[in-house]
Amino acid sequence: KIEGRSRYVFFTPDMDLDVRSREETYRELRLALADCDRQLEVHYQPIWSLEKNRMVGVEALLRWQHPEQGLVAPGDFIRSAEETGLITVLGEWVLRRAVQDARAWPDLRVAVNVSPIQLRSRKFVDIVRELLQGGISAERLELELTETALMAASGDVADALADLRQLGVCCALDDFGTGYSSLSHIRDIAVDRIKIDRSFVNAVDTVPGAALVEAIVGLARANGLRLTAEGVETPDQLAFLQRVGCHEVQGYLFSRPVAADAISRMLARPSGGGDVMSPPL
Ligand code: C2E
Ligand code: MG
Ligand code: MG
Ligand code: MG
Repeated sequence: KIEGRSRYVFFTPDMDLDVRSREETYRELRLALADCDRQLEVHYQPIWSLEKNRMVGVEALLRWQHPEQGLVAPGDFIRSAEETGLITVLGEWVLRRAVQDARAWPDLRVAVNVSPIQLRSRKFVDIVRELLQGGISAERLELELTETALMAASGDVADALADLRQLGVCCALDDFGTGYSSLSHIRDIAVDRIKIDRSFVNAVDTVPGAALVEAIVGLARANGLRLTAEGVETPDQLAFLQRVGCHEVQGYLFSRPVAADAISRMLARPSGGGDVMSPPL
């Protein structure tokens, strides 16, 4: 149909699978939303401040417990949810749940991933406004956007971003370095924070990899941006990031994403999680 009525389109087995699985994912995701208490869960990955030497935030990551397939990774369904428009409902569910869970952690910031499709609807800003009125302070809420979202920031999306920043909500550029932007874009980006993608963190043990991360950190800092490094897995990576002046780190070295009550248990320790979280520096 997309190709026009008068053209033949070969229906390959591949396409068949694509279309079928997208429709199936749509149907099953709708069922998951209807059964959200059992099938959907938000896990949280601690974000650790290298300045304060403590956990300062968490990133909310959606988990889908499929009744037959078990745990399905977001990488396997977020795109389908975007293509079918379901991401709007799904994303609203995650945002509300994360803000609800964050009530138990008054000293932590909660970062929520937001799809550009969510930003296209005026309703998104209204929901955020409502949540802020409900009690979470704007500084504690962070929205993670990808470069694609920011690049497409024309019209509705640009308006939504401006409104969100007006409300005082923090915006972070997720997966920095994987999109279109070049280093020189850093000074034009309308965000408060940059999250360095884990593919870059993973390469700091090479000379060019280290130089690149050092350049990103230097430029971001010179432009008054805050920095979080993603996917920190080794003490060497951590030591490097600390040395070049990255503000915060997140990764398996500290903790994998965990259920909300596990975050509460970390905070309940006398050290505020310091003993379990403290990395071997
Ligand atoms: P992201 O926002 O960049 O999230 C970080 C991903 O890296 C998470 O994968 C996390 O589990 C993983 N990770 C964290 N530390 C490490 C590490 O040390 N090593 C390695 N190898 N991986 C690490 P996850 O949970 O599978 O999520 C994948 C992506 O799915 C996210 O990437 C995000 O783009 C998307 N996503 C997840 N939840 C949501 C959501 O609620 N809404 C939207 N729109 N997207 C979401
Ligand atoms: Mg993220
Ligand atoms: Mg990321
Ligand atoms: Mg990433």
